[in-house]
Amino acid sequence: KAHLSITGGYEVYNIDQWEAGRLLSDICGHFSTAVKQNEIKVWYQPQVNYRTGEIIGAEALCRWNHEKLGWLSPGQFIPMLEQTGLIYDLDCLVWEIVCKDIHRWNEQGFKRSISVNLSRFDIEKNKNISNHFKNLIEKYDIEPSQLRIEITESAYADDNELLLETTAQLQDIGFEVEMDDFGSGYSSLNMLTEIPVDGIKLDYVFLKNTKNFEKSKIVVKHILQMLRNLKYKYIAEGVETKEHADFLISIDCERMQGFYFYKPMPVEEFEILDFDNINNRPH
Ligand code: C2E
Ligand code: MG
Ligand code: MG
Ligand code: MG
Repeated sequence: KAHLSITGGYEVYNIDQWEAGRLLSDICGHFSTAVKQNEIKVWYQPQVNYRTGEIIGAEALCRWNHEKLGWLSPGQFIPMLEQTGLIYDLDCLVWEIVCKDIHRWNEQGFKRSISVNLSRFDIEKNKNISNHFKNLIEKYDIEPSQLRIEITESAYADDNELLLETTAQLQDIGFEVEMDDFGSGYSSLNMLTEIPVDGIKLDYVFLKNTKNFEKSKIVVKHILQMLRNLKYKYIAEGVETKEHADFLISIDCERMQGFYFYKPMPVEEFEILDFDNINNRPH
């Protein structure tokens, strides 16, 4: 099935490594054409409640179906778009597509909540980004609770006034703000007392650490205890195996996202899933 490898698909496009490298280095130059040619897609990765067996939402993740390179994953173009400020154009497009999808699902009688990623460069580009989100949900007649906004831990790490203000403004409108990749940086614990987010996404570094998984388990268990006492919502990402999922349940973490359940998928696949029973998922 349509899961991407980090190398993209250029082998099948019959261009050589040199040409592929040249095209990748000019990814920004090709971006506006790509938008016009409808090459930017939004894929959805379901988030589950492992205890109840339901799909509780999804994260919107962008993909680029490049005319010559084939499918590209965010790691291949987002850093470059961030350097040039084009990330804001990408993100506005992604958010617009997501809101359009949510609107369509609402019309069909399915109230769904979707998480979107916000880059700290977006906030530099538009200092009043909360207003942008407010206009979006008005335009598509969706509730603020239907859009969760993920901001990566590292963005908060350098004490960014504007980011803190933006977080508060988004929350005032009614959006939930989640700190993404929690635990991947070095100042995580201190941030828990300072950052006014609603939820925490636990980075998959803890689960990936198979060599010291027994020690990792102790760390995760106590982090969750802390998150509960501090009244944060939380979800674990990067859940790849049944062992991961069963462990998380055993320490009272029931919200999960990861390849064990679902990989990111095109909207046509996502919207026909059985949201009430993850055991009916296609394999
Ligand atoms: P993220 O926000 O932390 O998103 C989760 C990433 O983990 C996704 O990678 C997802 O495919 C991957 N993932 C999910 N489950 C598993 C698992 O079980 N195992 C492993 N190894 N990986 C898993 P993806 O789609 O390649 O995106 C990478 C990053 O690019 C995202 O990390 C996010 O920071 C950024 N990104 C993706 N889409 C957007 C976007 O539309 N806008 C912005 N600003 N950033 C985006
Ligand atoms: Mg994210
Ligand atoms: Mg993450
Ligand atoms: Mg991550």
